Amino acid sequence: MAARTKFVLDEDQIPTQWYNVIADLPEPPPPPLHPGTLQPVGPDDLAPLFPQALIGQEVTTERYVDIPGEVLDVYRLWRPSPLYRARRLERALGTPARIYYKYEGVSPVGSHKPNTAVPQAYYNAAEGVGRLTTETGAGQWGSALAFACATFGLECEVWQVRASYDQKPYRKIMMETFGATVHPSPSDVTASGRAVLAEHPDSTGSLGIAISEAVEAAAPDPNARYALGSVLNHVLMHQTVIGEEALKQFELAEDVPDVIVGCTGGGSNFGGLVFPFLREKMAGRMSPVIRAVEPAACPSLTRGRYAYDFGDTAGLTPLLKMHTLGHDFIPDPIHAGGLRYHGMSPLMSHIYELGLVDAMAVGQQDCFAAGVRFARTEGIIPAPEPTHALAACVQEALRCKETGEEKAILTALCGHAHLDLPAYAAYLTGDMVDNELSDTTLEASLAGVPAGVS
Ligand SMILES: *Cc1c(COP(=O)(O)O)cnc(C)c1O
Repeated sequence: MAARTKFVLDEDQIPTQWYNVIADLPEPPPPPLHPGTLQPVGPDDLAPLFPQALIGQEVTTERYVDIPGEVLDVYRLWRPSPLYRARRLERALGTPARIYYKYEGVSPVGSHKPNTAVPQAYYNAAEGVGRLTTETGAGQWGSALAFACATFGLECEVWQVRASYDQKPYRKIMMETFGATVHPSPSDVTASGRAVLAEHPDSTGSLGIAISEAVEAAAPDPNARYALGSVLNHVLMHQTVIGEEALKQFELAEDVPDVIVGCTGGGSNFGGLVFPFLREKMAGRMSPVIRAVEPAACPSLTRGRYAYDFGDTAGLTPLLKMHTLGHDFIPDPIHAGGLRYHGMSPLMSHIYELGLVDAMAVGQQDCFAAGVRFARTEGIIPAPEPTHALAACVQEALRCKETGEEKAILTALCGHAHLDLPAYAAYLTGDMVDNELSDTTLEASLAGVPAGVS
């Protein structure tokens, strides 16, 4: 029998529930705090920004949440997504390791982001909201929300980080094709944007600034709400469809992962893949090493401080207990735009503190080397973000080659690079550099973390 390389589920095997890992943790993550009172934020504080259903999901301690039928109908456009065994990459590396990747690039916008954009748009529409605002870094999240809003008849307004707005005109066209309005951030249409422009007219922007703009635009408008593409508990929970499918696909493969790696920006694709495996691990049914991989230029888990900080630059959000580089941190304009966030999801930060996952940082040249190697063997050009996971995966596979260990490695391939090809051009022409994040720069931005809140 020919060895299988692709593990495919039927449409009726799409998970019908999201998994809430909080139900199985030894203690819940610390709550978000109101920056004025320093008390935990309540539903009323969040109501101007999010619909009730999502506020409920943010704080629920139920282990499973049913996925609405309307959301499953949209998921069926591309789910279940395939799990592949990377046999050609294994052969090229000469490793005894078995490498698997769960591919989310099959979604309408080419990444995992629609897994949460669709339910977020659905719940807003169901509660009568007419317009959603958001930020986008690489353009993946903005595209996903624009698609989801088109599906449920909502208006969509996106603030795209300036650097990405200039580098990725096709993402803007994609968002506009789905009917969204796109502003470069910082923009002159919000007070937060104008404040940044006044000081830095040439600002290349950051996710923190773009979040301030999108929040500011939604909060006073009763017809509008804000949507976040990562970081929050409900976002990570929506992404667990990835891991639930991957578990079933590992059964088809008659294998069990020993190592799971994924890239982390705000933690959602990684959380989505690993939480169901973490559940199995905590229940003693498997024991994979679970590893988050972040950019050396924006290393919130490996070099950030675990403290309460703002989720945005202007300080409009609640205080979140997370691994942070400081809310004023402007990462170097590395090519993995989706990983340029100053913080890490509070839930993932908490899980890291509990010692349930480990973390490493990699420079972008190593990442793109792994991305090119992957493209030339497996035929998929990975988005710049998951090349971080692939770099870690290649490292692990080469370690196995030295030790002779036959490990099964699972990696999250959370998107393709069809609209990120200029990043590959920079790598292929030798124009890509690794900028070290200096201790001095890091200390300066950590000084902006609010003192004395714990
Ligand atoms: C947004 C994005 C990321 C980073 O966000 P996470 O919440 O950490 O997943 C990573 N990869 C891709 C392809 C993205 O679009």
